[in-house]
Amino acid sequence: PAGEPLLAVNNLQVVYGGAIEALRDVSFEVHPGQIVALLGANGAGKSTVLKAISGILDFEDGKIEKGEIRYAGAQLGRMTAANIVGRGLVHVPEGRRLFASMTVQENLVVGGHHRNRAGLGDSLDYVYNLFPRLLERRAQIAGYLSGGEQQMVAIGRALMSKPRILALDEPGLGLAPLVVNEIFERIRQLSRDEKLTILLVEQNAMKALAIADRAYIMENGRVMLTGSSADLKDNPDVREFYLGIK
Ligand code: ATP
Repeated sequence: PAGEPLLAVNNLQVVYGGAIEALRDVSFEVHPGQIVALLGANGAGKSTVLKAISGILDFEDGKIEKGEIRYAGAQLGRMTAANIVGRGLVHVPEGRRLFASMTVQENLVVGGHHRNRAGLGDSLDYVYNLFPRLLERRAQIAGYLSGGEQQMVAIGRALMSKPRILALDEPGLGLAPLVVNEIFERIRQLSRDEKLTILLVEQNAMKALAIADRAYIMENGRVMLTGSSADLKDNPDVREFYLGIK
């Protein structure tokens, strides 16, 4: 699309523990309102991309060796994680990382901790409207919810801060197919109704391509291929070699 990307990653190189090169020369763009998918097998480097843009690599002894991450007119490379969230780039990590002993609503409120009372109330209403199941379960302990409900809490918690871009790491991981469909439908709804920009990491390529505008296929820390979801879905080589679909 025309105009400036909201997020632009250029020639990103990331190394873990001073030795393991997890990303080599990764570049991609996300335009406002788009859903962009990062696809690829286990270990391709998808999660590392999300950790790099959200400023949490240091917690795993990872380092940006080269390249730049531009987001909404700022350079993110040396910013703290809190600063990046404050600018509206919010990461929902793989494994969801809820506060397991807190209730659903307490988890949601944590996500909106810097909002005022009215803003918090509006966002809670919004999240409960998007995921009515969470309203029913609002007083329950998050650690006892099903995997799908926990994923809804994780996404809901991220939405509580009113993000501009949501970076989702394998939101369907370990969930039953029907629950995956439900989560993906809600992601599509967020994009359509809220014009929320979404960066989606997925191993389930067909599911991701069904809702994404564009995808980047990664292998061994590199971007091997990019295109519109429609083109990638129709390309027989892509289907067979990269997506494992016959
Ligand atoms: P997955 O679906 O398994 O998360 P991925 O595509 O997200 O796969 P990454 O998790 O980004 O891949 O991993 C990319 C590479 O970096 C892999 O070779 C992985 O072993 C390595 N790696 C990831 N995290 C670390 C870490 N904390 N320390 C050392 N190496 C790591």
